[in-house]
Amino acid sequence: MPIRKVTGFTTFALQKKTDRMQSVSLHDKEFVLYLEEDKIQKAIEKMAKTLEKEYAGKDVVFVGVLNGCFRLIADLMKYIEFEAEVNFIKLSSYRGTESTGKISDLMSLNTDLRNKHVIVLEDIVDTGHTLDYLRDVLKEKELASLKVASLLFKPDAFMGRHKPDYVAFEIPNLFVVGYGLDYDGLGRNLNDIYQIKS
Ligand code: 5GP
Repeated sequence: MPIRKVTGFTTFALQKKTDRMQSVSLHDKEFVLYLEEDKIQKAIEKMAKTLEKEYAGKDVVFVGVLNGCFRLIADLMKYIEFEAEVNFIKLSSYRGTESTGKISDLMSLNTDLRNKHVIVLEDIVDTGHTLDYLRDVLKEKELASLKVASLLFKPDAFMGRHKPDYVAFEIPNLFVVGYGLDYDGLGRNLNDIYQIKS
């Protein structure tokens, strides 16, 4: 019966995710465990506390950069206790494991940000081209302030104009997947972060 099949599949998927894998294969590449889920969660909670101190009582809009930020934004919001709006923009610069350097705006912001304190939420800042592009877009919108929070930051790859203001982890210049980050569409569901095997 179809219902039994679905139940069986769910149980199997949950069992796999609770056993932490030391390495994963996605398409043609292998990745090794780099940052465990509990470390990621603690860092996000700490980031929320920092933001709380600076932004409580202000007119705040979080702008998540899709696709990669969907897990960060969901987890960060669990710890944010001040009133804030949440919105999204969809940008893309990566193909496979390389940045193309050319940003495509796939879904624009559809909200009025005038006089708002905007906090951009990124999964990862690598070359910084995406952030430079986004800053230019947001500059036109008469914001009260603009800051950027990123879960991961690769200082050795960075070529942008402004570093992110809040960073949970600085990492080496190696491609990572998991916790929202993908390799050609796969790996976003992983709860831990994995680094490409050299
Ligand atoms: P940037 O414009 O800073 O080079 O790159 C920003 C975007 O590229 C990120 O939002 C992310 O989508 C993608 N990206 C950069 N580095 C990595 C990485 O190591 N792994 C994955 N999966 N995506 C990355």
